[in-house]
Amino acid sequence: MEEIFASVNRKRLTLKRGKERVVANRHPWIFGGAIASEGGPADAAIGDLLDPDGNRVASGFYSPRSEIRLRALTFDDEELTADLIGARVTSAIARRRSLLNDRTNAIRLINAEGDELSGLVLDLYNDVVVGEVGNAGIERIKPMLLEIIRRELRPRFVYLNNDLPARRLEQLPTEPEAIGEGTPATTILENGLRFEVNPAAGQKTGFFLDQRENRALARELSAGKSVLNLFSYTGAFGVYAAAGGATFVGNVDGSDIAIDQARRNHDLNGSTNIAQFMVADAFAHVRKLAAANEHFGLIICDPPAFAKRRVEVDRAARGYKDVNLYAMRLLDSRGVMLTFSCSGHMSLDLFQKVIFAAALDAGRRISILGRLTAAPDHPVSLYCPEGEYLKGFLLQVHE
Ligand code: SAH
Repeated sequence: MEEIFASVNRKRLTLKRGKERVVANRHPWIFGGAIASEGGPADAAIGDLLDPDGNRVASGFYSPRSEIRLRALTFDDEELTADLIGARVTSAIARRRSLLNDRTNAIRLINAEGDELSGLVLDLYNDVVVGEVGNAGIERIKPMLLEIIRRELRPRFVYLNNDLPARRLEQLPTEPEAIGEGTPATTILENGLRFEVNPAAGQKTGFFLDQRENRALARELSAGKSVLNLFSYTGAFGVYAAAGGATFVGNVDGSDIAIDQARRNHDLNGSTNIAQFMVADAFAHVRKLAAANEHFGLIICDPPAFAKRRVEVDRAARGYKDVNLYAMRLLDSRGVMLTFSCSGHMSLDLFQKVIFAAALDAGRRISILGRLTAAPDHPVSLYCPEGEYLKGFLLQVHE
């Protein structure tokens, strides 16, 4: 493994003259357009970035087929070694230990650029570690990674999804890897509530840990309220709402598998009696509820990323506006709403404009009580603000 870091095995990428400043801001993504020439072995996983005079200015993971040719991990004189990467992994885990306690045993351990480990996402679900390895560099240091995971966390099971599109681009295997006893299914504890997680079946890494604090907020806001949980997936927001004293929780999701999971999670927490489970298109469902003059004290709207690519932002904005507009019409007098966008390409500014347009058309007087983001185990590097995908608002109607 060490040998992939040896200088003879590294790609040497020389910057175009005039592009020297691409490293000035320490942004980890170095695009192919800034590179004048490439030397060194074709199958290199590690690359050095040289200025036009041949001085090394950065080192990182090399991807011959990605637009992002180099994911810089170190700059200037800092040597890129296996030990340095290992130390970053250990440090990322150590920084999160305080989040684990007898009420919460599921956290994100490593958040790619947010932990200076571009291409690596690791989540802990109780006794199971779930990972996404997105580039050839991480793939090659996997033995070291697994060793650190074993030493630091002693998991029963490690499950690597291997389903990122980037892996296909890099011609890495796309079969999942399951290492351990039994199955990767487990039950987690989050803020004292229990959830089933099956990494082999779920979306993304199985359970959206980034919403943990926003779910806790939903619990605080739910006492005595009738709650609508749109795009409910695992039903997690609904379970929190019920735990917070909601009188009714309506979970709505287009997937019957998700709705079954939501039902089991309500069961696990003893709140099936006040909950409803609807397999329905959320866009159609909010219209139906509005036509029936239904009202809710708290609405959660957490759709999937409508804009996966920049060109889809306009269409996504229309989708967010539509579902939020009808949801706003369903709010009780002084009702509150937690509304989210997890599209990386939709900025907070644009999302606020969309919410404004929805309120205007819904004819409701609405204020922002709070701005919401991902939980702190999903850090965003100041040097790579693209990592900030989840944004949301806590809204309230006045009248
Ligand atoms: N709120 C969830 C995460 C939502 S993920 C949580 O806290 O974990 C997005 C969910 O939206 C998925 O479960 C998907 O099945 C569902 N979905 C996507 N399009 C939908 C639609 N048009 N109507 C209803 N559900 C939809």
